[in-house]
Amino acid sequence: MKLDFNGKRVLVTGAGKGIGREIARHLSACNASVLALGRTEADLIALQDEIACEAICVDLSDVSATRDALGKAINIELLVNNAGISILEPFLDVSIEAFDEVFAVNVRGALVVSQFVAREMIASGKGGAIVNLSSLASSRALADHTSYCASKGALDQLTRMMALELGPHDIRVNAVNPTVTLTPMGEMAWGDPAKSGPILARIPLGRFARPLQVAEVVAWLLSDAADMVHGVTLPVDGGFSVG
Ligand code: NAP
Repeated sequence: MKLDFNGKRVLVTGAGKGIGREIARHLSACNASVLALGRTEADLIALQDEIACEAICVDLSDVSATRDALGKAINIELLVNNAGISILEPFLDVSIEAFDEVFAVNVRGALVVSQFVAREMIASGKGGAIVNLSSLASSRALADHTSYCASKGALDQLTRMMALELGPHDIRVNAVNPTVTLTPMGEMAWGDPAKSGPILARIPLGRFARPLQVAEVVAWLLSDAADMVHGVTLPVDGGFSVG
């Protein structure tokens, strides 16, 4: 199904690499006007060479810089909170710094951006749609992923709270929860077959996700085709969750 976002403006966070970059490319191919947010300028310039998009370069863990930078984010009807980080540590060695950093990006960053954009959506009277990039890690314990798993569990619940309180303003909010996806982050966490093998063995479809497969589900959730889908945390996991 070819989706058409002609006339719609979408903000994608973490658009410089991986899944976020693929979401920006895919939405642009579906005629959306893309505003790409990232923290590495070279990545944003490379994306702008590829697709016609505007860019915001800011570190989402810096709340006041983020709020200032979001001044450019006007007339946004669609938002994808994709930016995320993972810092791997065994539970007993989890540092406060790493825990706070992961939550600052994965949870607080999504909160700050969503508050800004949702206020604009409400003021415009047009409503909108938001998708949060969660993970299978929100509901499964994965070795060395304490901060990440906890942050994605929190993001699922943030999604439900946003759905509850923004739904009456005709703003739909959902999350996607992919399994291992082959991106720089995916390679960092799962590049070693000794680690990824047991997960792969539990996926009935027998393969990890590609970024475009996640981007297509995100686009569908943003589209009018999903007009009655609200507050879900949707696995994109090749069936891992059935086990
Ligand atoms: P990635 O390859 O590491 O790309 C993440 C992007 O987010 C990068 O462009 C990164 O910029 C940006 N970003 C990170 N921290 C930021 C910050 N503080 N401010 C602004 N931008 C920031 O990750 P990915 O694999 O595409 O993951 C994207 C999302 O999908 C994440 O939320 C992740 O948790 C989720 N996810 C990933 C997988 C997987 O296996 N890959 C599975 C399930 C869910 P820099 O490069 O400049 O840091």
